[in-house]
Amino acid sequence: ASKRRGRGRFTYYDAELNASDDRRYVLERQLPRAIAENELVLHFQPKVRLSDYRIVGLEALVRWAHPDYGLVYPNDFIPLAEQSELIVELGNWVMQACCAQQAMWKAQGLPLVPVAFNVSPRQLGDEHLPARVSAQLQAHGITPAEIEVEVTESCLVEPFGTPANVLRQLEGLGIRIGLDDFGSGFSSLSQIRHFPIGTIKIDRSFINDIRNSKDVGVIVTSIITLAHNLNMRVVAEGVELRDQLVDLKMAGCDEVQGYYMSRPVDVCETARLLVQKTIIPA
Ligand code: C2E
Ligand code: MG
Ligand code: MG
Ligand code: MG
Repeated sequence: ASKRRGRGRFTYYDAELNASDDRRYVLERQLPRAIAENELVLHFQPKVRLSDYRIVGLEALVRWAHPDYGLVYPNDFIPLAEQSELIVELGNWVMQACCAQQAMWKAQGLPLVPVAFNVSPRQLGDEHLPARVSAQLQAHGITPAEIEVEVTESCLVEPFGTPANVLRQLEGLGIRIGLDDFGSGFSSLSQIRHFPIGTIKIDRSFINDIRNSKDVGVIVTSIITLAHNLNMRVVAEGVELRDQLVDLKMAGCDEVQGYYMSRPVDVCETARLLVQKTIIPA
């Protein structure tokens, strides 16, 4: 009997595995269509300044409004796109959609804050990126200070290659550059100083453990102090609890982002947040 149960279980797992493999396969196959037929949408998550709880920035996060699967999250399709040049196309879509949205809010007379978009390592290998960004700023009548770029540590391996040059050109245009997920890789602030990074975002995993581990608390405080001494601003990502917010404020962190302040929200809800201007924690 136990043998039969065992077999039954295997069949069940196989079916599940196949279902998720199928979904991934379908998503991979349909991704070019998603970009071409505008099935991608941007949601926005606010960055809140700790000194006065003002919303001082937004981060654009892409979703795929899939006709069969509903809203698909980036972890399910960005890695697929990153396997090929498709990520460059997707990234360009996000960049132009970001500029277009910012222009729309501007036309509506809303109080603007910089909107950041995420850039993959492969996109920084595209030497035309600064010209593309510049053209979109022009086309939509927005200034370099009204957008921001987020890159990850894996973009910062080599100070003299194309990615580093692209970053320097973006910075030269007046665009602020943020380092995403800081601490999740192996780079140190002393290496990062060779790149034009204005802001670091401390990885969610540290914020998650800030209360559970005294070491993590010390690490976060040290990162913030060192970043400030290097004239960088510090954002904490993934803040989910009031206690974490209190600790981060004590540690001198500049801004927070996370479910405790707001989840990423759609365009309408974002406009409402912009009008509201602050998110005062309960
Ligand atoms: P990321 O850039 O580090 O963005 C933060 C992710 O953490 C977002 O997930 C956000 O919804 C989530 N998050 C925010 N606050 C909290 C919190 O308090 N708790 C928890 N548990 N999670 C929180 P999302 O939107 O699913 O995006 C995941 C990743 O996908 C992003 O990580 C980014 O690396 C990538 N991504 C998203 N949009 C784009 C894009 O347009 N281009 C590229 N290249 N990558 C993107
Ligand atoms: Mg990001
Ligand atoms: Mg991040
Ligand atoms: Mg992260």
